[in-house]
Amino acid sequence: MRMTWDAIVIGAGPAGAATALGLNGRGRRVLLLERHTFPRDKVCGGCVNASALRELDALGLAKNVAALHAPVLSRLVLHGGGAPAHVSIPAGIGVTRAAFDQMLVEAARERGVTLRTGQRAQRVGPGAVAVDGRIERADVVVAAGGLANAQPDITTRTAPRSRIGAQTFLEHAPAFCTPDAIDMVCGRHGYVGFAQTEDGRCDIAAALAPALVRQSGGIAHAVQQILVRAGLPPLTATRAWSATPALTKTPCQRHGDRLFLVGDAAGYVEPFTGEGIAWALAGARALAPIAARAWRPEAGAAWERAYKTTVGKRQRVCRALTHGLRVPHVTAAAVAVLRRAPRIAQPLVRAATLGSAR
Ligand SMILES: Cc1cc2nc3c(=O)[nH]c(=O)nc-3n(C[C@H](O)[C@H](O)[C@H](O)COP(=O)(O)OP(=O)(O)OC[C@H]3O[C@@H](n4cnc5c(N)ncnc54)[C@H](O)[C@@H]3O)c2cc1C
Repeated sequence: MRMTWDAIVIGAGPAGAATALGLNGRGRRVLLLERHTFPRDKVCGGCVNASALRELDALGLAKNVAALHAPVLSRLVLHGGGAPAHVSIPAGIGVTRAAFDQMLVEAARERGVTLRTGQRAQRVGPGAVAVDGRIERADVVVAAGGLANAQPDITTRTAPRSRIGAQTFLEHAPAFCTPDAIDMVCGRHGYVGFAQTEDGRCDIAAALAPALVRQSGGIAHAVQQILVRAGLPPLTATRAWSATPALTKTPCQRHGDRLFLVGDAAGYVEPFTGEGIAWALAGARALAPIAARAWRPEAGAAWERAYKTTVGKRQRVCRALTHGLRVPHVTAAAVAVLRRAPRIAQPLVRAATLGSAR
């Protein structure tokens, strides 16, 4: 059977675009498929942390990142009742996903990846993808479609108390926010993060217990409740909120016949440490050399091992942290301790933001 492509990548978010770049850099013919047209927004806090910046640097994209003129974020400010705690973090940047993801796909296209946007793709067999009324064939398929793009032959387990994600923008940051910082407001049933983006707006992203959203009458009310309980003023008018399905998911495996899963599609935990983009890029870096070789069944097991060491370990840190923060007195105690001794947070900050150091 004649194959037009060495690899077809489904989904042109950070995981898909970076995998396409990695495969293209190894001389592979890559078709990158995206259901939306760019620029497009995506539910996200828009914080590209230090670890993600290093991954982008390794992809040769430092200049493209600099051209975004995004604000530097070098502090985490934790609000949980009483005075906030300020913690230094390795410098990251705040972006809109519209600008950031467009930068990534443009780079992929300029380097020779074939990009088709506005086309929903569906895997229909080993190495076969239905798109735009025809079947495209490749040696391997990379599923990088994010949280919602489940593969029919791979069972995915959703954590029982999983929260949902939500996001919107404010034209200006609220007065309690700190310039050059990510402000996080923690409550028992969720948390809300604020960060400035390259266009001067403020990105607000939240992880919320579905029960809180139901009981308070919607996402906007749920967010106001978390702010007010933390002693902060409610928000003035925001644009409409966008939401995600349940956030914490694990597929039973991250490979199939001629198939690899990467990014959120390979498993995700709540975004408290703001690392999803770094995980997606680190996963793409680890997958590219495996997926670039001609398909052989052992490649699946090789990817499972590589995934555990590059991404799985870091997701465990994030999972433990978000569990701890569900207990109100743990949050209050953590904020109180960090207020007096912010250096205590440094090992955790390092684990979260420098985890992919090579
Ligand atoms: C509330 C919230 C806040 C967050 N905040 C941060 C943060 O501040 N910093 C951070 O690093 N991470 C954050 N994250 C996580 C981050 O957004 C994700 O981890 C990251 O976007 C994962 O990248 P991805 O490429 O795997 O998936 P995505 O970015 O979701 O990209 C998947 C792409 O695939 C496309 N697609 C899906 N199905 C198909 C199909 N069938 N055919 C074609 N295309 C398809 C989608 O349209 C999309 O463009 C946050 C997440 C949430 C929910």
